[in-house]
Amino acid sequence: MIDFELSEEQKQLQDVARRFAENEIKPIAAALDNETDPHKTYPKEVIKKGFELGFHSLLIPEKYGGIGATPLDYAILLEELAVADLGTANAFHVCMSISELISKTGTEEQCERWLRPIAEDETGTQLIGFGATEPAGGSEIFCPLPDPKLGTRSHARKEGDDYVVNGRKVYSSNAGVAGLYGCLARTDTTKPNAESCSVFMFPADTPGFSIGTIENKMGTRSSMNGEHIYEDMRLTKDNMLGEEGGGFATLNAIYDSNGMGLGSQAVGVARAAYEMALEYAKEREIWGQAIGKYQAVGNMLVDMKADIEMSRLLVRRVAWQCTNESSEGALLPNLAKVYPAEMARRVTVNAMQIMGGAGYMKDYPVEKYLRDAMVFPIIGGANEVLKYFMSQRL
Ligand SMILES: Cc1cc2nc3c(=O)[nH]c(=O)nc-3n(C[C@H](O)[C@H](O)[C@H](O)COP(=O)(O)OP(=O)(O)OC[C@H]3O[C@@H](n4cnc5c(N)ncnc54)[C@H](O)[C@@H]3O)c2cc1C
Repeated sequence: MIDFELSEEQKQLQDVARRFAENEIKPIAAALDNETDPHKTYPKEVIKKGFELGFHSLLIPEKYGGIGATPLDYAILLEELAVADLGTANAFHVCMSISELISKTGTEEQCERWLRPIAEDETGTQLIGFGATEPAGGSEIFCPLPDPKLGTRSHARKEGDDYVVNGRKVYSSNAGVAGLYGCLARTDTTKPNAESCSVFMFPADTPGFSIGTIENKMGTRSSMNGEHIYEDMRLTKDNMLGEEGGGFATLNAIYDSNGMGLGSQAVGVARAAYEMALEYAKEREIWGQAIGKYQAVGNMLVDMKADIEMSRLLVRRVAWQCTNESSEGALLPNLAKVYPAEMARRVTVNAMQIMGGAGYMKDYPVEKYLRDAMVFPIIGGANEVLKYFMSQRL
């Protein structure tokens, strides 16, 4: 039986998230976007208020103090936050996604140690960040080829019971504002990349860890993106998530849901652009009638609406799949990321076209939506690379 109706609890969550987005995020989104210093764009107070509402702990199981919500709740929340500001939504997304990774792959002890302090935090300082992408390339990290020289360059050298990590990550979200960080590093450089990466988690104040450059980006400006630097960072087996050399299997635990989280944010940004363009098309009169009455514009709006609805259905289908784990009829992993990612670019470009010169000016947020939406086919793995892996399963 297929039921498209949200439950009462889901409607309540949507309502809380919508009001938070409207009252807390929207009023400061343009100012943060226009701030030219990337060190001053982080919405600290908004993040703190989101922590008070428990957004950061949505996917942390109740037994560790979290909310223990479903993947569909996660999608609903992220769509609403992204309508107001993608950078802010992304800060919560990364935190929720990596908390899910820990809860799915960590031991009881690790979950207690890492998840409970995050779940109980109301100061907003316990976000999570994760570094996979390196200067050699975010796509290089996923290299499936047998040559051990290719792939992840950050190295966790075994020394007795310890691992000494050296290397550098780039573009990582929540850089400098998280309390807990994770990384993907090679634990054996003689084996192929796919068999020799491991996932580690460690607190922000771990000796040997530092944050480098904070990036100055074209969009998602309220999200802090920057370098993670590891210089003889000493970790132990207790810091490792999953098996040694099984880093990709560990990350696979959130493959579907992380992609869906990105897809739901793409739906949010596209929805914001569509709603603005629709309103404009009803009001703007050319040759004596609203431009929305012209078939060319009306058709564009219908296509945009259909694109958004299809993407949301994909997201919710994968949310269902994440809850009802069954490989039967399972969608290709990341379909709910790659399609909405491209959809958000299409819809925001069309929204600007409908608004003409006004859309190109900073008086309206449509140009921000477009700049923000450009990130979707890049973030969380380039669409071309994700499609390559998807095509191998066809
Ligand atoms: C705002 C933002 C936030 C981010 N947050 C994080 C984060 O929190 N953590 C993190 O680890 N990373 C993060 N990233 C990095 C992101 O995951 C990478 O940018 C992405 O994986 C692409 O890597 P790259 O930029 O090095 O591009 P490259 O790997 O250099 O690829 C460049 C282009 O080459 C093409 N390409 C590459 N390989 C192939 C292939 N095999 N087949 C076909 N085409 C190919 C694609 O078009 C690709 O876009 C973030 C990036 C941005 C912009």
